[in-house]
Amino acid sequence: MQPRDLSAHEAYVPGRGAKEVARDLGMDPEELTKLSSNENPHGPSPDAVAAVENAAPDVNVYPKASHTDLTARIAEHWSLDEIQVWLSAGADGAIDYLSRAFLEPGDEMLVPEPGFSYYPMSARYHHGETSTYPVSKDEDFEQSAEHVLSSYDGERIVYVTTPHNPTGSVLEADEIRALANGVHDQTLVVVDEAYAEYHDAPSAIELLDEYDNLAVLRTFSKAYGLAGLRIGYAAVPEAWADAYARVNTPFAANELACRAALAALDDDEHLERSIETARWAREYYHEHLDVPTWPSGGNFVLCEVGDASAVAEATQERGVIVRDTSSFGLPECIRVSCGTREGTRRAVDVINEVVAEIGPEATEP
Ligand SMILES: *Cc1c(COP(=O)(O)O)cnc(C)c1O
Repeated sequence: MQPRDLSAHEAYVPGRGAKEVARDLGMDPEELTKLSSNENPHGPSPDAVAAVENAAPDVNVYPKASHTDLTARIAEHWSLDEIQVWLSAGADGAIDYLSRAFLEPGDEMLVPEPGFSYYPMSARYHHGETSTYPVSKDEDFEQSAEHVLSSYDGERIVYVTTPHNPTGSVLEADEIRALANGVHDQTLVVVDEAYAEYHDAPSAIELLDEYDNLAVLRTFSKAYGLAGLRIGYAAVPEAWADAYARVNTPFAANELACRAALAALDDDEHLERSIETARWAREYYHEHLDVPTWPSGGNFVLCEVGDASAVAEATQERGVIVRDTSSFGLPECIRVSCGTREGTRRAVDVINEVVAEIGPEATEP
């Protein structure tokens, strides 16, 4: 007995957790500054924590009312019809729902390279194929409709990420329109806005009235600090929104996650503080790191350090965990998440120290 041929599948490799690293290094996890997974350094909203505690005694019941309440709250926020909100277990879950709804076996998905690894994984899980378009370092990772369209060959789904992970570059609203106009009318353009809260621009959700070949992903994992609960959604056009009922995994958006997300949506103070700290940290990295960085619309900054794997290992030994972007095809770069003010300053000191010791000759100033 064997599963189907999974040889083309790659396992998702997450950034390492502080607890694992601490165990390996014989350190207390509290001594570590974890800046490898773009998590919210302020933690979740206290209101979300209270909501989880309040909901805990009722988890014997399937999450029905909470799903309805959260859907309604999100729909109201964006002036959408409720059926246009596809709640999911993280934005990753929404990626799967879109794959299920759109891909026939052998259909193709066009994704950015470097880019978020779950897009091609989801295509493979759903018997689809992937091709890529470059987000090129030679052009400072600039994104535009033209860049995407020059690699486009009628794929069924096209993914864009704005702000882009791991580079931080953004795709302007006009470019999203140009892309939606430029593809075949049976091609779905998915705009992944996992980091949109950190960038000051209108959401592509506002375009859903005009385009029926568009979907937008949002998550509570980043600015709302709920990564551990797995809650996100796709916002989709009314024309095919009812497909959700046929593709979603029943009750995947769980009771605690829905209640926490509802509470988080009402805590403007926590959200604003999270965004404000990230914007401060981005600037701090640009100003104080002794290595080249790229402008970022997200809660992280990509930096060129020379030998990323050696640098990431050395910063980790000094208590700062960063993301080596070799697995994204950028072996000379690390991605550093925005920390608290204290964590961010510590990261800068440690990265500069390490690069001065081991990396400078490989790094262009
Ligand atoms: C973090 C992230 C997501 C969503 O993650 P979930 O935790 O599944 O909501 C989606 N896209 C990108 C580019 C991300 O970095």
